[in-house]
Amino acid sequence: MSDYLIRATAFDGKLRAFAAETTGLVEEMRRRHHTTPLATAALGRAVTAGIMMGAMLKGEEKLTIQIKGDGPIGQIVVDANAKGEVRGYVDNPHVDLPPNARGKLDVRGAVGEGTLYVIKDLGLKEPYRGSVPLVSGELGEDFTYYFAKSEQTPSAVALGVLVERDGSVRKAGGFILQLLPGLNDDEITGIERKIAELPPVTSMLDEGAVLDDVLKRMVDSVQVLDRSEIRFRCKCSRERVEQTLISLGRDEIEQLLREDGKAEVVCHFCNETYAYNGEQLHNLLERLTSE
Ligand code: ZN
Repeated sequence: MSDYLIRATAFDGKLRAFAAETTGLVEEMRRRHHTTPLATAALGRAVTAGIMMGAMLKGEEKLTIQIKGDGPIGQIVVDANAKGEVRGYVDNPHVDLPPNARGKLDVRGAVGEGTLYVIKDLGLKEPYRGSVPLVSGELGEDFTYYFAKSEQTPSAVALGVLVERDGSVRKAGGFILQLLPGLNDDEITGIERKIAELPPVTSMLDEGAVLDDVLKRMVDSVQVLDRSEIRFRCKCSRERVEQTLISLGRDEIEQLLREDGKAEVVCHFCNETYAYNGEQLHNLLERLTSE
């Protein structure tokens, strides 16, 4: 099944939920960035959070997540939008650490201590910026803390990536449950108890559960509002790269020609390489002159 996202509600709108299966897009990122299993897990969790947070936006709105810890993975960056498109990268895709005490990929060790930033472009003059310290480094708990602190919305966030022995992605996915004002204590306690008993999302998906089942195990009365496709998408293009090269200016391009006779630009987000030979660089110089 291809990747998808569902949006759901319960308790007369006092609870809202998002769940996403992201196996295909996390696998695409692994292939593009050549990530180790540890980097795949960290990037995959961040991307899964990003795609669900994107679903909270409307129209042309978009968001960027930056996880800046002091661990060996460096920075994790994810861009997502309301159209179900996401892209992302980590500074060090080759990070590798021994398993943690529970025998799992040590995402916390890779991320370290630092700050989680969320920047939302809502079409206003200034973007919305929220930030919280990383309280865990495992990322699920860090997003839970972000929603509570920065958006004042008590939430439960689960993010998971299950990696095969050969390093490919077996399952990836997650959910965000948000408790809106008006729920009574019994309702909240009931939901919390079921969340605590829930197996990891990736295990449920691996056993054949669909996202609706995952949410129903926490809230029987959940109603799925819609289902949408999600995909990896980078907005880089040869035209955009040319604009960037041109913006470097004549001296820089002439220097590239003199020293290398060519230029190669790699997109951080998708790892696509844009190559320019001498003739193409000369053409750019001519465009500079004529503009
Ligand atoms: Zn790109």
